[in-house]
Amino acid sequence: MRKPLIAGNFKMYKSVPETVAYLIELRALAKEVRGVDIVVAPPFTAIHAAAAAARDSNVAIGAQHVHWEREGAFTGEVSAAMLFVAGARYVIVGHSERRTLFGDTNATVNKRMHAAITAALVPIVCIGETLEQRDRNETLAVLDRQIKESLDGVTGEQLAGMVLAYEPVWAIGTGRNATPAQAGEAHFHIRQRLKQWFGLEAAEQCRVLYGGSVKPDNIAKLIAEPDVDGALVGGASLDAKSFLAIITGATV
Ligand code: PEP
Repeated sequence: MRKPLIAGNFKMYKSVPETVAYLIELRALAKEVRGVDIVVAPPFTAIHAAAAAARDSNVAIGAQHVHWEREGAFTGEVSAAMLFVAGARYVIVGHSERRTLFGDTNATVNKRMHAAITAALVPIVCIGETLEQRDRNETLAVLDRQIKESLDGVTGEQLAGMVLAYEPVWAIGTGRNATPAQAGEAHFHIRQRLKQWFGLEAAEQCRVLYGGSVKPDNIAKLIAEPDVDGALVGGASLDAKSFLAIITGATV
């Protein structure tokens, strides 16, 4: 039985004081929550302060992006080891906004993911099709390619501790979530491929989140799908009460 995980992606929202205030509120609201892992991924600038504000709580801190080198002349980049020392324990890699706006590819996602694992960060690897690809009936083939190339070189043991996020690009920030049946179909397919390529045991342990316009009123139906193990939440994570409602919706 996989423990559900609810991860909030702040994107480029919230300053350091805003993030700290949020975490003080969320940790108090979520202190009785059991049976679900909670992650908050603020911008880089707020990670250290966020980790301090969340210390000894059931909220872990994540980053939204990472570079694959340990250090060097890479202006503007941040390494996995730096994120770990700052207090992050998870990192989102290959978010569709990184892929479409900043040129991330399956090959660079793969390098980021390996760097994260080496630094003891749990990667949350994002995959998902565009609307055009769905309309052309290419969804499952796109997912296959993203899984194969983004996860290249991962061992079964590593996969077991990792997180994937199925995020149909057309559902991110649009208010248009995949129906539970659409999410269920994609997640079933992803699980089958993970079994085939990484072995039954690893595939059963790897958590696969759904992401794309998750809200308090749709989480229960999405998580009721057998292969949906939680959610990656953008907009609705920015308010602590709304995020808590999603977290509690994932526990029922
Ligand atoms: C995301 O940023 O990963 C996301 C799913 O955003 P939203 O929940 O706003 O669609």
